[in-house]
Amino acid sequence: MPEIKRGKLTVVAGPTAVGKGTVIAHILENHPEIHLSVSATTRSPRPGEIDGVNYFFLSHEQFDDLIARGEMLEYAVVHGQNKYGTPKQPVIEALERGELVLLEIDIQGARQVKKAMPEANLVFIAPPSWDELVRRLTTRGTEDEVEQARRLETAREELASQSEFDHVVINEKVADCAAQVLDLMQN
Ligand code: 5GP
Repeated sequence: MPEIKRGKLTVVAGPTAVGKGTVIAHILENHPEIHLSVSATTRSPRPGEIDGVNYFFLSHEQFDDLIARGEMLEYAVVHGQNKYGTPKQPVIEALERGELVLLEIDIQGARQVKKAMPEANLVFIAPPSWDELVRRLTTRGTEDEVEQARRLETAREELASQSEFDHVVINEKVADCAAQVLDLMQN
């Protein structure tokens, strides 16, 4: 029997504004061969976001249709508002090509992936402290006060579920955090 090539799936989650996006961008800059899954979402694009690059921006009907057809590896309503999900096929294909695959999703989604694919490696990115998380969220200025409050509410719950993850990495300095996550992805 020929040996089946199999990649490795890593799921990165963590509270709002912890810097997941920056850490992942840092990893991909140095390792463009890593397959970052493009999620689908029902939220509207922010200025500068490109359909098919940052997300697949879908209507609620289109999103529900993908769920009904069994084409989502996982999905969740995030921050009590919009649906976000991981299209299954591109992930499976990348794993079959033997690639390192990275998902940046919320905690509900991470739980679903672990159930569907127990071999997935779950990495939680944590802030150095709660006050630092609040500071990062308020200073980035991409959300209004109502949205900030909603995201902090979710963040409290998310921080409480760290123990469900295989690894916790604190994002004190981006480069250090990225190096640790990369190491966990590769080994
Ligand atoms: P944002 O609206 O700021 O782009 O993302 C909000 C949250 O949605 C982030 O915390 C991110 O982790 C989560 N998210 C993004 N894509 C997915 C996905 O495919 N599945 C799940 N479950 N959550 C996602």
